[in-house]
Amino acid sequence: MAKKERIRKEKKVKERVKTKKHNYYKVEGDNIKRERKSCPKCGGGVFMAQHKSRNACGKCGYTEHNVKPETKKEVQEVKQETAEKPKEEKTQ
Ligand SMILES: [Zn+2]
Repeated sequence: MAKKERIRKEKKVKERVKTKKHNYYKVEGDNIKRERKSCPKCGGGVFMAQHKSRNACGKCGYTEHNVKPETKKEVQEVKQETAEKPKEEKTQ
């Protein structure tokens, strides 16, 4: 059996990504406006990534799901319905 020749791949040097925190601040007159929510776990200065349905913290992994008020109501109604239902007695 011939030995497989190992081709050494050139090491890929990752370019360091500079933080773009400064983009999340906007100056309005004398005040600073933050365009992203800051993480409640990590505190100020750590911004959460905005997704369609959630906000996520890249540092600690904390996620906040954006639930529409309509769907929230539906969920509560469903919960109430299930709570009102009497438990089914086990029959042997
Ligand atoms: Zn966090």
